[in-house]
Amino acid sequence: MKKQPKSVTGTNLLHAKNHNRRAVLDAVRRHDGLSRADITRITNLSAQTISNLVGELEDSGLLLAGEPIRQKRGQPARPYRLNPDGGYAIGFQLTGTQFDAVLVNLLGKERARISQQFNHPNPEQAIELLIDATHRIISDCGLDPARNIGIGIAMPGPVGIAGPTGIAPGWEGFDIVAALSEKIDCPVFVENDADAAAISEKLYGNARTLENFVYVFVGYGLGAGLFMDNQIIHGTNGAAGEIGHLPVEPQGRDCPCGRKGCLERYVSLLALYDEFDAADRDALLNDTTLNRLAQLSPDDEPVKRWIKQAAPHLATAVQILGSMLDPQAVMLGGLLPEPIVKALLDELSNLEVTGSRTPLGNALPVQAGVGNLLSAAMGAAALPIYHELVPDFQNMLKIRDANA
Ligand SMILES: [Zn+2]
Repeated sequence: MKKQPKSVTGTNLLHAKNHNRRAVLDAVRRHDGLSRADITRITNLSAQTISNLVGELEDSGLLLAGEPIRQKRGQPARPYRLNPDGGYAIGFQLTGTQFDAVLVNLLGKERARISQQFNHPNPEQAIELLIDATHRIISDCGLDPARNIGIGIAMPGPVGIAGPTGIAPGWEGFDIVAALSEKIDCPVFVENDADAAAISEKLYGNARTLENFVYVFVGYGLGAGLFMDNQIIHGTNGAAGEIGHLPVEPQGRDCPCGRKGCLERYVSLLALYDEFDAADRDALLNDTTLNRLAQLSPDDEPVKRWIKQAAPHLATAVQILGSMLDPQAVMLGGLLPEPIVKALLDELSNLEVTGSRTPLGNALPVQAGVGNLLSAAMGAAALPIYHELVPDFQNMLKIRDANA
């Protein structure tokens, strides 16, 4: 008789920190239909250990057993596969004016999303809203709260820098992981939005086969996720890849950071909006749904002007990133709509002299990301899933784990 998954009480079963368990889940995630003998061979664990772990994972609903398949020799063997709906995770993407939440299953497939506008909340207000949204999206989907394997949050970074591209004053030094973990019974992870989008691009997007790439995230400001040798690079303060304040124009435009001519004064949504007259600019700024932005065309005069101005500065950034990091590619995305990304890339490729040439003289490909405006949320949602399912994920992404 087929074993029925027991209902999970509490979260112990789903959150057991066990390397062997992850090894089994990882094997089954990568190869559907493995028998216990296959899993034993792949993981190098003892047959008894695998028998116990597989039984436990089946009981918890994370593994599904198929009908036994007749073997050439011995007993018929059951094939196992990961139950995509055995658990789920929630990814948040925060700006100063809105958050988006996506709920994804264990394969990273989106099951639901919600958005909410807010007005530069302080950390305490934001925590309440995120907890409320977590409960709401779970109950809207009719899911068992015990199967939530975690929350990931993508936000502009580094968290210590305030200003119009951050969330609000009061976030400097705020430990959102600790604050949320106190109030919610699941693991919590945080990444800056560029890093989260890079993770999404690596797991689900156009960088799946790449081991070295930079993801340039055009949001209200500008940041880059650095994925090098299969790892996200955070740096000493989590600020690696904060390219927005690179000086690119001596005596250029004033920047809220106090200096002049910073890159994000030219390459960012705020710089794009500055090309519109006051009324349109305000309308774009106040439209936190980004619907107005999505309706812009690369042929609109202000957008054309912005692309002309932004491209040479972006080319400088690509040059610097290429020289410093020698990546296989630079991906361009973030909140910028896909047609505008493509037009900006076209303009970039026309810049013969300052274009995307590396010091070795070969062209460094600059490509569009997948064009998902919620890529940072998807990447954030992947953090708890991969933390749960992949034994070396923590090393791979060097994620900051408050729950270990
Ligand atoms: Zn600046």
